[in-house]
Amino acid sequence: MSLESIIENITDTKPRIVSVIGAGLSKASGMPTFRGEDGLWKKYRAEELATPYAFSRDQKLVWEWYRFRMRMLLRAKPNPAHNALKKLEEKNIAIGLITQNVDGLHEIEGIKNFVEIHGRIRYARCMNCNYSERWDNEESAQEEIPLPYCPRCIDSVLRPDVVWFGESLDSQRWEKAINWTNQASVLLVIGTSGVVQPVASLPLYAKQNKAIVVEFNVEETPISSFCDYSIYGPCEKTLPNFTSKLIKKLE
Ligand SMILES: [Zn+2]
Repeated sequence: MSLESIIENITDTKPRIVSVIGAGLSKASGMPTFRGEDGLWKKYRAEELATPYAFSRDQKLVWEWYRFRMRMLLRAKPNPAHNALKKLEEKNIAIGLITQNVDGLHEIEGIKNFVEIHGRIRYARCMNCNYSERWDNEESAQEEIPLPYCPRCIDSVLRPDVVWFGESLDSQRWEKAINWTNQASVLLVIGTSGVVQPVASLPLYAKQNKAIVVEFNVEETPISSFCDYSIYGPCEKTLPNFTSKLIKKLE
């Protein structure tokens, strides 16, 4: 179906849009996904480093990896797909953005209503007292520096404030994501294959509430069959095209 026909079928005069985004959205910003081909650092896979077990065994190694990632992130910039989402917010037709990305590029773009269900790599957090601080600067991302300690607790090494493999999502963040999804009249699923639970359940919640679900991915994914419409291609191209046409129609 053509983009024009999809937009025609969104008949709301003031749609309530919720977007769910994943790694595919930040790809054009130069962020490796740490899956498959570009998944290795030294000899490790992400699944071997981003776990509570890895951190308890070797904090230095895990921090070295995150510092390597931070040095790349400091060079990354939001791309036109982030900008398209910001425009939806500016037009007051976006309820909120649910992101699986920990890179914070949505915030740098200027988006205000978002929930980071997999956490935020730009912050370090104390597991003991929940103190947190930003560390997204060149100095903190240097290769060989001492481990960061909590300024309040003795002997407590800060950890990146992200959800690791084997950890459950923060319940407040997840509730917010569900709450937004339940209010949506249009759910955009962007740059995520939709296989990771519980995020994969969001399109189903939206469908139960009769929302229109539109997917933006490079190719067909496991959620394509649940979606009303799928728009295939790089989302830094397809999404701005979609949002600008939608905004134009509503004006
Ligand atoms: Zn502490």
